[in-house]
Amino acid sequence: MLREKYDLYHLSTGDALRAAVKEGSELGKTAKTFMDAGELVPDDLIIALVKDALAKQPANRGWLLDGFPRTKAQAEALAAAGIEATAFVLLDVPDEALVGRVTGRRLDPETGTIYHLTYSPPPSEEVAARLVHRSDDTEEKVKVRIAAFHANVADVRESYAGILIAVDGNRNKREVFKDVCNGLYWKRGDGKW
Ligand code: AMP
Repeated sequence: MLREKYDLYHLSTGDALRAAVKEGSELGKTAKTFMDAGELVPDDLIIALVKDALAKQPANRGWLLDGFPRTKAQAEALAAAGIEATAFVLLDVPDEALVGRVTGRRLDPETGTIYHLTYSPPPSEEVAARLVHRSDDTEEKVKVRIAAFHANVADVRESYAGILIAVDGNRNKREVFKDVCNGLYWKRGDGKW
């Protein structure tokens, strides 16, 4: 929704890593072990991925980094590369709700659309039949991922204290989207959003 509204280049590091795993590249082979365990991929690999991807974009193109930075080292590397964010959006959702969202999440490999078996079910039997359940979207793995999040979030948050937009993410997506857009509007301050 943000990508469409603001015409942004959207880089999801998780999606980029899953594509690398599918391709069977060196990066994909190394990343797979960590991803399968629900652990963070080493900082140097992910930093190189993000820098390369952003360098390929025209300088005046706005971007949305999704799932990055996840550690202090990643935030520092971004700053050291002179890549400066306008806003940092933190979607606050209780751990139990995250477990429910992740375990019910299913991906349509043909369209890239993400569904949830209860909250956003697929529109037809045909779509339902081709949905994929990510191997790290199990209760066991999500707990490891949430622990990694809690170990790092304070440091990352601190790096972006001046541009933080914290939103209650435990509501329906239209309400969450509206608050994020309002936050962006006020951060930007010049009405251009
Ligand atoms: P996601 O799709 O954002 O949930 O990411 C899936 C997995 O990819 C994570 O559990 C990590 O193993 C890896 N990953 C994605 N982004 C990062 C990142 N910024 N730093 C380290 N590992 C990452």
